[in-house]
Amino acid sequence: MPENKKLFGTSGIRGKVEDEVTTNLTLNVGKALATYLDKKEEGKKDVVIGYDTRTTNEMLENAITAGLLESGCNVLKIGMVPTPLVGYAVDKLKASAGVMLTASHNPSEYNGIKIWNKNGMAYTPSQEEEIEKIYYSEEFTEAGWENIGEIYHIEEIKQTYMDDLLNAVDIDAIKNAKLKVVLDPASGAGSEISPLVIRMAGCEIITLNSQSDGFFPGRNPEPNEANLQDLMEIVAKSNADIGIAHDGDADRMMAIDENGRISDFDKLLAIMSKYMVEKSEDKNEGNDSLSKKVITTVDAGLCMDESLKEVGGKVIRTKVGDVNVAESIIEEDAIFGGEPSGTWIYPDFGMCPDGILSGIRIIELVAKKGKLSKLLDDIPNYTSIREKIICSKEAKIKVMGNMEKLLTDAFDDIVNVNSIDGVRIAFEDGSWVLVRPSGTEDYVRITLEGKTPERAEFIKDISAKIINENLD
Ligand code: MG
Repeated sequence: MPENKKLFGTSGIRGKVEDEVTTNLTLNVGKALATYLDKKEEGKKDVVIGYDTRTTNEMLENAITAGLLESGCNVLKIGMVPTPLVGYAVDKLKASAGVMLTASHNPSEYNGIKIWNKNGMAYTPSQEEEIEKIYYSEEFTEAGWENIGEIYHIEEIKQTYMDDLLNAVDIDAIKNAKLKVVLDPASGAGSEISPLVIRMAGCEIITLNSQSDGFFPGRNPEPNEANLQDLMEIVAKSNADIGIAHDGDADRMMAIDENGRISDFDKLLAIMSKYMVEKSEDKNEGNDSLSKKVITTVDAGLCMDESLKEVGGKVIRTKVGDVNVAESIIEEDAIFGGEPSGTWIYPDFGMCPDGILSGIRIIELVAKKGKLSKLLDDIPNYTSIREKIICSKEAKIKVMGNMEKLLTDAFDDIVNVNSIDGVRIAFEDGSWVLVRPSGTEDYVRITLEGKTPERAEFIKDISAKIINENLD
């Protein structure tokens, strides 16, 4: 493998189409994936392919299809779909793998390739590494003209997915609540299916940016406060009960309360986590061995722990990244897992983060428990601080190598140290601090929550001081 060359980043292959994600690259990723599957399994393999609304998708779909066919795999085309539908289809159609062509929340000129396992979970870093090795070796399986793969167009999978989504929520409760919902899928992959699902659930719906368009003319596909101003305004002015937004490939969801206020990411995750524990208890009444575990990442806030305490749930923190959350869900037999970014996984439905299901489940939650603003406001506020300390790559590696000792020496009321991804220290009063190096840039980030503003400042000052003192 050429030095410094790394095909896969933190979420599959991603880059600008003309520079990095080219048809040549995509063709060879198709061959590499087929070669990898050929080494693992006997017989003919099926690979599901879906894509979001980007203008370059059909071009890349043709390239990856050619590579897969040449190396002997059948291709099951499911067209323009949300990412979770690829994960779902691989599992449902008993395919060997799935490919989603998307650059998620990145702007129009980007595209990317994300690969899915037969259980509907994203490829792990070690699987990606194996694909990468084959890609750079260029030793691809050649099926020969008599054994090349075939293409199948699978139309009905969208309907099956929508039916299963509606079966996964309490439809009667949603219908009875007669909710008004405003949806903004950013003209991305959720544009077709998300409005249909919300309407079929019995809600009145207003859509904006719901025409599929790879130029994302209405807004940037990252669902953050700056990009959701129109949605926030329309929710407030139309007397809606809730606003729902997706990112470009609809594996994420963000909710707006009935006053037009964007949810705090941590608080939204906390109320859904609590709800998933309650929902699972209702379904499994009398089963004492029921898992009440919820997975989140090391950067998630204290309100997760506090909300779950009320229902006897347990929070387990893992490394940042949805694949890490998915792997931990399986390892720990957890009932739910999510990152504060809105990337949430429901193992009762599938192992792929699902923004469409998150949308309909937050609607279900509001239907059953009342106003979103109240649910969010009931969660205690802590003072959170995020701060970057810019440094050289060498200094970053050096200071992180010693971080656990530096932090544990600097504070004296520590109850827990977690060094699974950076170093996270929890204090007796519940406050916590995480020091984590950026994976792609030259800085170290301090993320923390304090029980009081003074406590937060105190923890920040000490953490920043010991990092700065140890940079050279
Ligand atoms: Mg996404």
